[in-house]
Amino acid sequence: MAHVRHVERLSPSFVRLTLGGLDQLAPRGHDHWCRLFFAREGQDAFQLPTRTGEVGWYLQYLATPRARRPWVRAYTCRNVRPDTGEVDIDSVIHEDVAGRLGPAAQFALAASPGDRLGFLDQGIGFTPDHPHDWTLLVGDETALPAVAGVIASLPEDARGIAIIEVPTAGDRQEFRVPPEMEVRWIHRDESAGGDQPGQLALEAVKATVPLGGEVHAHLIGESGLATGARRHLVQEWGVPKRNVDFVGYWRHGRPATT
Ligand SMILES: Cc1cc2nc3c(=O)[nH]c(=O)nc-3n(C[C@H](O)[C@H](O)[C@H](O)COP(=O)(O)OP(=O)(O)OC[C@H]3O[C@@H](n4cnc5c(N)ncnc54)[C@H](O)[C@@H]3O)c2cc1C
Repeated sequence: MAHVRHVERLSPSFVRLTLGGLDQLAPRGHDHWCRLFFAREGQDAFQLPTRTGEVGWYLQYLATPRARRPWVRAYTCRNVRPDTGEVDIDSVIHEDVAGRLGPAAQFALAASPGDRLGFLDQGIGFTPDHPHDWTLLVGDETALPAVAGVIASLPEDARGIAIIEVPTAGDRQEFRVPPEMEVRWIHRDESAGGDQPGQLALEAVKATVPLGGEVHAHLIGESGLATGARRHLVQEWGVPKRNVDFVGYWRHGRPATT
């Protein structure tokens, strides 16, 4: 279990939750991510899985009586501070198509110090395992914590392009960027055609001229962005599929399945 230590409105679309009680968590850099478990409305206690393996925790979760089953959502650990047992989670405050907050967004918006939640360490997703000359990173706002962490973890001589779509210019963040990495920010509110998050980033990928040499691409965020960008790289740029990692972080119009 973890608990909320601090809540900060980071920018127009982000709330940063600082979680405490995670003394055993070792920082892994890159896009270190976790699953958070929190109570559903009217639930004063919930049951956490005791297994941590990828399948084991989920089977236990499914076997938990519905009345004690928490919400589960995936988040990136934006900062991990083992000395204080703290983790920062940057949560996008979003609404669904009908204007309702998702449960995780609602939790972040209403959170106050002392609130308790479950935390399952899930490791890192950015693991290029083939030689490459440059890196392409693409994401929407849910991917900003991961893209920022990956860029900051790249070696000083890394070359590449990062395309990051955020709702407004006020949501941009500062982080270490190696000199040969170019970060292209897209502000959704300043362009036409941004009704669905990720679509402007997808257009930007299609307008990008690839750098020379072999690429490693990491494409994350709304599902249509991740799959559409992969399709473009494979079909139009001729990139081998093994050079492209893609993860749909969420699906437009569909809640997460747990
Ligand atoms: C590995 C991984 C790391 C992630 N890291 C982060 C992170 O650091 N920060 C972060 O904010 N998210 C992150 N996400 C995405 C996050 O898990 C989803 O956005 C999640 O659906 C939010 O849960 P919810 O309960 O608020 O909404 P849900 O109940 O899942 O969805 C409710 C409705 O809201 C819509 N929706 C969900 N997310 C968004 C959004 N961002 N914008 C607009 N509509 C949305 C859904 O389509 C649905 O219609 C990550 C996902 C993965 C897989």
